[in-house]
Amino acid sequence: MGKFVYSFSEGSKDMRSLLGGKGANLAEMTRIGLPVPYGFTVTTEACTRYYEENQMIGEDIIGEIYEKLAELEAVTEKKFGDKENPLLVSVRSGSVFSMPGMMDTILNLGLNDETVESLAKLTENDRFAYDSYRRFIQMFGDVVLEIPKSEFDVIFDGQKEKVGAAFDVDLTTDDLKEIIVGYKALVKKAVGRDFPQEPKDQLMEAIKAVFRSWNNDRAILYRKLNRISDKLGTAVNVQSMVFGNMGDTSGTGVAFTRDPATGNNQLYGEFLVNAQGEDVVAGIRTPKPIAEMAEAFPEVYKDFERIAEILEKHYKDMQDMEFTVERGKLFMLQTRAAKRTAVSAIKVAVDMVDEGLIAKETAVERIDPAQIDQLLHPTFDTKAEKTAEVLAKGLPASPGAATGKIYFTASDAEAAVESGEKAILVRQETSPEDLAGMVAAEGILTARGGMTSHAAVVARGMGKCCVAGCSEIIVDESGKTLTIGDDRLEEGDYISLNGSTGTVYRGQIATVQPELSGDFGMIMSWADEIRKLKVRTNADNPKDAAQALAFGAEGIGLCRTEHMFFEEERIPAIRQMILAETEEERRTALAKLLPFQKSDFMGMYEVMEDKPVTIRLLDPPLHEFLPQTEEDTRELAAHTGIPYEKLAQAASELHEFNPMLGHRGCRLAVTYPEIAEMQTRAIMEAAIEVSAEKGVDIVPEIMIPLVGSKAEIADVKATVVKTADACREEAGSQMKYHIGTMIEVPRAALTADEIAEEAEFFSFGTNDLTQMTFGFSRDDTGKLIKEYVDKGILPDDPFQTIDQDGVGLLVQMAVEKGRQTRPNIKLGICGEHGGDPRSIEFCHRTGLDYVSCSPYRVPIARIAAAQAAIKDVEK
Ligand code: PEP
Ligand code: MG
Repeated sequence: MGKFVYSFSEGSKDMRSLLGGKGANLAEMTRIGLPVPYGFTVTTEACTRYYEENQMIGEDIIGEIYEKLAELEAVTEKKFGDKENPLLVSVRSGSVFSMPGMMDTILNLGLNDETVESLAKLTENDRFAYDSYRRFIQMFGDVVLEIPKSEFDVIFDGQKEKVGAAFDVDLTTDDLKEIIVGYKALVKKAVGRDFPQEPKDQLMEAIKAVFRSWNNDRAILYRKLNRISDKLGTAVNVQSMVFGNMGDTSGTGVAFTRDPATGNNQLYGEFLVNAQGEDVVAGIRTPKPIAEMAEAFPEVYKDFERIAEILEKHYKDMQDMEFTVERGKLFMLQTRAAKRTAVSAIKVAVDMVDEGLIAKETAVERIDPAQIDQLLHPTFDTKAEKTAEVLAKGLPASPGAATGKIYFTASDAEAAVESGEKAILVRQETSPEDLAGMVAAEGILTARGGMTSHAAVVARGMGKCCVAGCSEIIVDESGKTLTIGDDRLEEGDYISLNGSTGTVYRGQIATVQPELSGDFGMIMSWADEIRKLKVRTNADNPKDAAQALAFGAEGIGLCRTEHMFFEEERIPAIRQMILAETEEERRTALAKLLPFQKSDFMGMYEVMEDKPVTIRLLDPPLHEFLPQTEEDTRELAAHTGIPYEKLAQAASELHEFNPMLGHRGCRLAVTYPEIAEMQTRAIMEAAIEVSAEKGVDIVPEIMIPLVGSKAEIADVKATVVKTADACREEAGSQMKYHIGTMIEVPRAALTADEIAEEAEFFSFGTNDLTQMTFGFSRDDTGKLIKEYVDKGILPDDPFQTIDQDGVGLLVQMAVEKGRQTRPNIKLGICGEHGGDPRSIEFCHRTGLDYVSCSPYRVPIARIAAAQAAIKDVEK
């Protein structure tokens, strides 16, 4: 029989998967001699068994729990249910990966009508004892008996109103006793039985409730968002209570060893005198900055500083700690790696390398590539922000800039976003139920709660702009209004939030791009030293190319030439080419296009200089360049003099339906070689001229799309070679050039050895390759794939993260076959997957030379490529 319950003295930080993060760290803190109230952990395996055994806790596990309870009683010299010296415990969930605020907690368990009196006597504090008891009934009622919290609130607020109490602390012992009577009546009415008085029953029910909470909606959603397996289960921590609400020498708080928003190396957090933990996290009272604790409890503060330092050095990472002070004595209740903004993550990582605490590799590994996004996104334009009307000021809970229409419930915000709006979620305070709305919103504004309130913690984790604790505003959630002084805003009105300053503005504000240097540059340079993959970008205009260069791109992996065709002054010539009836007519039209294409390519080469630039020949079906509506077709007819009927007929003949696998890709060049001729000429002439002008070495890379066989590429290649060589001769140039192909048709992967006889490089077009391997039309399947992912039929959207088991196999096969024929063949990827961290890891393992992605994903790709290399070495 296994072991399902561990005392804190038996575990360590390395037992996370069994004890959960919280349990493992409580054990670790106990092990290294820090003051932790004693307790024990019921393992995640017990949770798995609970689900396997029909939601029952096995007799053997119950036996183990009682054994550990007896040990806890011995250590604390208290007894469960004892009238003289009762043991009270907290029961908290703790899964392998931290899920802040997602799971349930019960405090003061062990209180009943008798032990509450002994607690009052022992502490000589009636009020404290009855306050603890009413909190316990409320939490137990909510978490275990599933009675809505609001029903308890009605009783509580009713009593406050009845006696004219402004704050919770104004309630007297008698008031609290009356509330308890009300709470117990509510429990009886709601569940048809009395509130359980036997502590052991309370404990078992609470443990089961924690197991159940693993599968509540918000926990499931959180896991889904964070890609945490549903199978892990949660551990349960049972810990003897310490009380932060025992009067003015007690208190409770949450603190970080460094600033989780900026990364500054100073203790950062909040505390409340005479309060229990949930008061801080739930934002019921607005807490004080941790520095003020130095004044309230100077000795304890020193001790806390010392422990924070020990913990950070021990874990070699920024910690997020919970503590309680009971009558002047400090107790640690939790420590874990702190969630942090991207700015903070980067600063902390760089500082810790400077401090000699971690290696560069660890620093790079700690950066979440997806989070980098936060740094690349715009902030408010300073000028526009200066002139904007300030409505209110709250706490700068999570940095960034957000503009949108206000909505007052999570579901309204979600619905608005679904219909294409940008939403700001405005709440009195948020709770875990609001998660889906927070995900959908651009930003979050709350009236109550501090820097460690639910809204603040969750928003920072998501990298979402948040202003919290904005006490100047009055939020009427049911009336859907936001009042600030005499001003009233309604649902749908625009506001803007600056999450770095806590300012709330009226209306919309323009945004600007951020600068990337300092610590960010340092981390990036370490990533560049470590990674093996090169990072290119997909860009088809000089502006995007320059942006990508600024982000560290080392070349262009895909220039889609059709994007250049759409420009207004070119479209008439394109259409003339499409509608041409003879080769001669087509050549006349193409001749008009040549100077445009050439200057496009010159622009690209001027920016990229000697860096590699892969230019792809025309790919999309021609109908995309013809007018789509009757009105536009008539206009074109009037403009060109071509009869409307002829135009309409051409459009309908050329029209293709998704997935558009007809007359496109290299098939265009096979049937109309003069298109490939014109494009090759434009590329070569541009390269030769810029090379001479700038004195740089350019080696054009000409890429043929949608190839499925050797003969097909050979046909187009002949046109390209003939034209390129003619250009060289005309210019008297020796310029080298490379011809390669996209691998995006499954047949190309299967026959890659043959294709490599013609192609000097392969670029995996995993968008089309995914479309054709799955048989999913890439433009029609968004909704369907979401359902497949929700149902678990697909682990991920294969258009976002490469399907390693299917599409990935084709890529691997093509890599092997390609190298067989041509050992030095250059291999890259230019589908969307080139910017996806998990796909990048796959590309590294598969041995590609480079990934190519959109400019804004270049820094993400640099980090992800370095992390893939580190992982490889670790293996
Ligand atoms: C691809 O298919 O992956 C690709 C990069 O080409 P496009 O998206 O232009 O079809
Ligand atoms: Mg493609």
